[in-house]
Amino acid sequence: MTRPSSRSADATRSSEAAAVLMPVASPLPRDVTVSFEFFPPKDDQAEQKLWAAIERLAVLRPAYVSVTYGAGGSTRERTHATVARLRRETALEPAAHLTCVGATRAEIDAIARHYWEVGVRHIVALRGDPPAGSAGYEPHPQGYAYAAELVAGLRRVADFEISVAAYPEGHPEASSAEADLDALKRKLDAGATQAITQFFFDVERYFRFLDRALAAGITAPLIPGILPVTHFAQMARFAARCGTSVPRWVAELFAGLDDDPETRRLVAACVAAEQCRALHAGGVKQFHFYTLNRADLTFAICHILGVRPGPGPAPCGSGPSGA
Ligand SMILES: Cc1cc2nc3c(=O)[nH]c(=O)nc-3n(C[C@H](O)[C@H](O)[C@H](O)COP(=O)(O)OP(=O)(O)OC[C@H]3O[C@@H](n4cnc5c(N)ncnc54)[C@H](O)[C@@H]3O)c2cc1C
Repeated sequence: MTRPSSRSADATRSSEAAAVLMPVASPLPRDVTVSFEFFPPKDDQAEQKLWAAIERLAVLRPAYVSVTYGAGGSTRERTHATVARLRRETALEPAAHLTCVGATRAEIDAIARHYWEVGVRHIVALRGDPPAGSAGYEPHPQGYAYAAELVAGLRRVADFEISVAAYPEGHPEASSAEADLDALKRKLDAGATQAITQFFFDVERYFRFLDRALAAGITAPLIPGILPVTHFAQMARFAARCGTSVPRWVAELFAGLDDDPETRRLVAACVAAEQCRALHAGGVKQFHFYTLNRADLTFAICHILGVRPGPGPAPCGSGPSGA
């Protein structure tokens, strides 16, 4: 991501503000790269849906596609199977999410070694959330306590590319915004090369986060995580848990559409496209999409961002017509 340079000069701010006001009406960007996040499927039907989405999005030639690791490590085998299949059967670059929860250092190191052996070179290293229903996060007595420790451990295992998580609105358990930035810096200093943000809606808040990160000496890319909203109520519950604020205008845009999925989808595409174009107008060139294993919204937003199918053989399957 090209970091917007100085955002303090008034002239820069006002010209950016003008660009942000009309993001979709500006020329089509041609300099955007994207990555996509999927979660591992829980049954055969979900698996078919996932691979149809992967096939549809693969033609956009993402920098990488990542696969999440269920809370408490609950999808360990399924995450592994999906990542290994991506490596084996496609030309896409897989990134495996890995968390500290519920495992010893030796167990996590063994998982990482196995990933390296099957050709996986990119890990998204996270502390992880505790399993549903538990009181709160408790580090395993022989485990990695925080993501920064996991990053250092992965560095000892092999020369992985490592991404970590960042929180434009702060992580809900952080004692302060400064402490949270320190935690991010420790992860990058330990050997992570970039961070992907928690989803957010407030573009200005993200830019202020970039400013604060830069002032704290963080120069690695902090790639915005974009969540196209498929179900407003579900998203709002998740946002409350992970500390993402939902502006009133988002709620108002989705109001009355609970039983109208088609209009909801159109609105969702508008919201995410405007958010992405506003970010692009502020200098952002890399976007990470939380696809929720659906291709339609992400594909449309990428199209609006100027990300189109590339030449040559499709990296996976037969492309859109085969999806
Ligand atoms: C892009 C992205 C992908 C994700 N993927 C997954 C996934 O696949 N599976 C999953 O279970 N969860 C996932 N999560 C959620 C994530 O695991 C949670 O947000 C988790 O609560 C924090 O993880 P972290 O890696 O940011 O933790 P850390 O960076 O370790 O920070 C956790 C908290 O501890 C604080 N902290 C850090 N170091 C210290 C220290 N030394 N002393 C005291 N406090 C400290 C931080 O400020 C923060 O409040 C993802 C989140 C993002 C943004």
